[in-house]
Amino acid sequence: MPNVHFVEGGATRTASVRAGIRAAAQYGPEMIFIHDAARPGLQPGTVAALLDALSEADGAAPALPVSDALRRAGEDGAVSDLVARDRLYRVQTPQAFKFKAIAAAYDQSGDALYEDDLAVAHAAGLKTRLIPGEARLMKLTYAEDFAILEAMMGAQTRNCVGSGFDAHRFGEGDHVILCGVKIPHDRGLIGHSDADAGWHALVDALLGAIGAGDIGAHFPPTDARWKGANSETFLRHARDLVAQAGGRIQNVDVTLICERPKIGPHRDAMCARTAEVLGLDPVFVNIKATTTEKMGFTGRQEGLAAEAVVSVARSF
Ligand code: MG
Repeated sequence: MPNVHFVEGGATRTASVRAGIRAAAQYGPEMIFIHDAARPGLQPGTVAALLDALSEADGAAPALPVSDALRRAGEDGAVSDLVARDRLYRVQTPQAFKFKAIAAAYDQSGDALYEDDLAVAHAAGLKTRLIPGEARLMKLTYAEDFAILEAMMGAQTRNCVGSGFDAHRFGEGDHVILCGVKIPHDRGLIGHSDADAGWHALVDALLGAIGAGDIGAHFPPTDARWKGANSETFLRHARDLVAQAGGRIQNVDVTLICERPKIGPHRDAMCARTAEVLGLDPVFVNIKATTTEKMGFTGRQEGLAAEAVVSVARSF
């Protein structure tokens, strides 16, 4: 990324903005836009309107009039009174300011907490104004907000499916690692890495959903770096590639195929570990097991196999 200066944030929004403003001072800017990254729907028109507003005010922010009726209610939900909604606005970001004015306002603010930058400006007596905001500037807070914003932005979302398969041979050892969980067993699994067939199949499925080839291409077994590697490294890499491809993992489903060890007692831990690494709610992670009724290489316990299917919503 060109010309981006990252600054360590604070424990609160106010503290983070204060740190950002202090770091920006060295570039001597005339104006500054302070934006919630959780509002990706910013359009050029809003930027132009904010710049325009700064010609006659110290600060400006986009805002939308409140359209729903407003009532105040007690903790028990009982309605107490009606709040007039005229001239009430929902304030969005970016909030734009003349740099020197907002920097001084933040300096004066000490360690106090403010809801937003307009509040800091207001406390310092700066002249601020609202400009018309946009529905597309909505803040992404809940999982369902992504679909709403995508619909508003006209983004095309396509649901992509990926599948993966992996197998490892049993050998000497006293445990296996499956879906990130160490399971005591009278044999081990042979592999260049930790031989976690469950996560390897899952990595291949994730790569498949975004058209990114297979695990061998990303982590060649000939590369000494991956000898004995923890498969969490592979899974994290695949997760990051999905995000970089504009994808969001919807759900994952892994099937472990073996006669032994018994998977059932470890399934919840496997789901929890997998969900943690992928940053998914565990309800979207399913791990199940089957045998092949003593047929084939898994039936003869020569090795163990795993299959995975994932669904990834990709925006284009
Ligand atoms: Mg493998």
